[in-house]
Amino acid sequence: AYAQTSAAGAGPRPQPKALIGANECWEGPLEPGARAAAAAISGGNRYTGSERADFVNALASIENVPPAYVMAWPGSSDPLSRIIVTYCSPTRGLVTADPTFELAESVAKYIGAPVKRVPLTADHAHDVKAMLAADPNAGIYYVCTPNNPSATLTGLKDVEWLLANKPAGSIVLLDEAYIHFSDAPAGAYLAAQDKEIIVLRTFSKLFGMAGMRLGATIAKPALMMKTMRYDGGMVSYALPTPSVVCGTASLLAGDLIRQRRAEMLKVRADTLAFLDKRGLAYVPPQANFFMVDWKKPAAEVRKAMAAEGVDIGRSWPIWPTRSRITIGSAAEMDAFKRAVVTLNL
Ligand code: PLP
Repeated sequence: AYAQTSAAGAGPRPQPKALIGANECWEGPLEPGARAAAAAISGGNRYTGSERADFVNALASIENVPPAYVMAWPGSSDPLSRIIVTYCSPTRGLVTADPTFELAESVAKYIGAPVKRVPLTADHAHDVKAMLAADPNAGIYYVCTPNNPSATLTGLKDVEWLLANKPAGSIVLLDEAYIHFSDAPAGAYLAAQDKEIIVLRTFSKLFGMAGMRLGATIAKPALMMKTMRYDGGMVSYALPTPSVVCGTASLLAGDLIRQRRAEMLKVRADTLAFLDKRGLAYVPPQANFFMVDWKKPAAEVRKAMAAEGVDIGRSWPIWPTRSRITIGSAAEMDAFKRAVVTLNL
C-alpha cells in the first residue's frame, strides 16, 4: 500500500518517479474492463445480480473447469487466509518455501499452527520432496508459481507428485498470482480432476486491479465449502459490481492480455540487459519482477533509492543483499536505471 498523503496531512507527497516495489501493474485495468466498471457505477444502488455468475462462467470457460469449481473473491489474500485457518491447526502445520510470499506463514502462526520453511532448489523451484519430508502430516503445502519474490516456476509435475504423496486430509495450495505474466501452463486442470488442490488467482497483477479487489479460487466445491462455515460464503457474493464486470470484460480481452504481457517482457528484457552491462546479478525471472543482488545490504539500497524518488521492493531475510524490483512502465524503469547509475550500484 502506498499512502499518497503525508502523515501530517500537509497535502499530497511529491509523486515518486517510480513505484516499483509492490508487484502491481504499471497501469490500470484493460480498456474494456475500465469501460465496463465505469458504466456499472450508476447502477450501484442495486445489489450485484447476474454479474457475478457471468464472471464465474467466463473464468470457468477459459480454465476449462465446471463453473461450480470457481468462486469470486475480493482479491486472493482473503481466500488464502481462510484456507490456512481451515486446513491448518496446532496439529496440522503449514509447509512453505523460503523465500516466498509470507501471508500463509503469518496466518498459520497466528492460529498456532507449526510452520516449516523449506529453501528453494538450486534452480529456485519449490523443493517438493523436501517439503513433504519437512512435515509428512501437514495440513497445507503452499506452492507459489511463479514464486514471489524469486519470480521462478515450479513445474506442475512436481505439484502432481506432491498431490500423489501428501497425507490424507491435507491440501496443496497453488498460488498463481503471477501466472498471466508467464507462459507456463496453469494448474486448474488438477482441480478439474478433483485433486485436493485449491488454485488461487488474482486480478491485482497483470489485470491492473489491485485497488479494485478481485480474485478467484478454483477447486472442487467441497474444498472451498469447508472454508465458509461462518458466513456461508457471503464475502464471495458481496463483491463490488464495477470490479466484477471489470474482471469479466478483462478476461474476454485476450489480445490486450497478450499485448500487456508482451509490453512487460520488452521492458523487462531492456532492464535485465542494463543489469548485465553493469555486472549486477539477478535470478532469471518468469514474472513481472526480479531479485537483484546488490552485494550489500538491500535495506540501505532501498533507502537510497527512495531518496532518488524510486520506490523499490524489499529484501527477504534469507537473501539480505537482494531487493525485489517490479517491472514498471518504460519511464519508471528508466528512472530506476538512472538511480542505479547515480548511486553507483
Ligand atoms: N499471492 C501472492 C503470491 C502475492 O504476491 C500477492 C500480493 O502481492 C497475493 C497473493 C495477494 O494479492 P491480492 O490480495 O491483491 O490478490
